[in-house]
Amino acid sequence: MPSSSVRYISTRGGITPVDFREAVFMGLATDGGLLLPAALPNVKDRLADWADLPYVRLAEEVISLFVGDAIPRSDLRRILEKSYSTFEHPDIVPVVQCGPVHVMELFHGPTLAFKDIALQVLGNLFEYFLAGTDNSLNIIGATSGDTGSAAIHGVRGKKKINIFIMHPCGKVSPVQERQMTTVLDRNVHNIAIKGTFDDGQRILKEIFNDLPFKRRYELGAVNSVNWARVMAQIVYYFYASLRLSRQYNVSAVQASVPTGNFGDIFAGYLAVKMGAPISRLILATNENDILAKFFNTGIYERGEVHPTISPSMDIQIASNFERYLYYRCGSNPESVKELMEIFRDSGRIEVAGVDDNFVAGSATQQEILKTIRHYHQTYGYVLDPHSAVGVAVAERNLHEKIPTVCLATAHPAKFAHAIEQALGHNPVQHPAIEKLMDLPTRLEVLPANKETVEAFIRDQLQN
Ligand SMILES: *Cc1c(COP(=O)(O)O)cnc(C)c1O
Repeated sequence: MPSSSVRYISTRGGITPVDFREAVFMGLATDGGLLLPAALPNVKDRLADWADLPYVRLAEEVISLFVGDAIPRSDLRRILEKSYSTFEHPDIVPVVQCGPVHVMELFHGPTLAFKDIALQVLGNLFEYFLAGTDNSLNIIGATSGDTGSAAIHGVRGKKKINIFIMHPCGKVSPVQERQMTTVLDRNVHNIAIKGTFDDGQRILKEIFNDLPFKRRYELGAVNSVNWARVMAQIVYYFYASLRLSRQYNVSAVQASVPTGNFGDIFAGYLAVKMGAPISRLILATNENDILAKFFNTGIYERGEVHPTISPSMDIQIASNFERYLYYRCGSNPESVKELMEIFRDSGRIEVAGVDDNFVAGSATQQEILKTIRHYHQTYGYVLDPHSAVGVAVAERNLHEKIPTVCLATAHPAKFAHAIEQALGHNPVQHPAIEKLMDLPTRLEVLPANKETVEAFIRDQLQN
């Protein structure tokens, strides 16, 4: 296929289309919307060729469609090989059968959660695009746990990149804290804020609003809305659906996805639109079920966040949902803008009709624990409390003739507390986690205000 320029537009229609490189650095579009490719490739006639490819080669095929001529093919291959060389499993995302479902393990990267799949790629894309320029990138973010550590591991040791991640001091799990603070590379700066996660978010916003500071220190964000993250996640939907549909000689499979910010499952939706052999997506939430409610009623309504044992899904406003709305509104940015304005003002929108690509449900704390117990006792497999949400909702939607793949988003050893709660003991360990507690750490504890954080950033960058 000849390479060509792929353009990206905003869901709100307010930007001049940009190329892939600009999309990677832009994150949020300047009109407040989110970036999407101007046209989605249809790959139906490539599926037969793709069915046998190992993960990294398949990733090259899929991702090249979104990169176009912004990166030569051989460079893209090197970037992807490097990104997945940090994964500990030769298949990258092994698919294992487990009773009535197949589990696709997305947690074999450096932080043992699925965010590594995209953030390892994003880090290498940043480094690649910055090489040979006079620019550098100083990433600043606020985390309540998983995203921060995956972002740190995505850019550690990379040239022309610094990363500053704020976490609420003493308020993230010990494993999550250590996955961040044991990274000693000089370009990694952990800031423990004496305050809450919201204080971190507030300081982040204040710093980004301090335009002279932002410009002077070339600040950028890694957030869940970066297009490259969605893009990298499309790949594994093709990987699993091609493998399983061939294995069972069926025309399609269904995929169950534990959902928080609607990033992972949105990637699945794009795979479906591109022609992946997936009959439907099972959207699974925990008790924070704004998305499940939307797909069942058409009403999207803001609520309170309830803390659960699957904390990475404790989200009410799903940052990628606007991308889905764009397609749901017939690719009409005016309608998206209008809906987002209504939502901003009233905290509620309603969309007519149903989308047959989805079936949705939520799992309670009791169901999650029961699922972990059942899969351990019956199949000898330990699910983490996020993956268990996807499996619990999948079990209500099994189909005799359609294989089901459940996305496993974290290694159970990361959430030992929930596993103990479910099983009464913890049968899973992971050497990388065992080791964490003995490693040296580096972090800076700072009071919760913008001035001290800015002063710290300035000091570090001038060193
Ligand atoms: C981030 C995360 C999720 C939710 O993914 P979204 O893309 O936000 O829907 C689920 N499980 C784990 C372990 C995660 O870290």
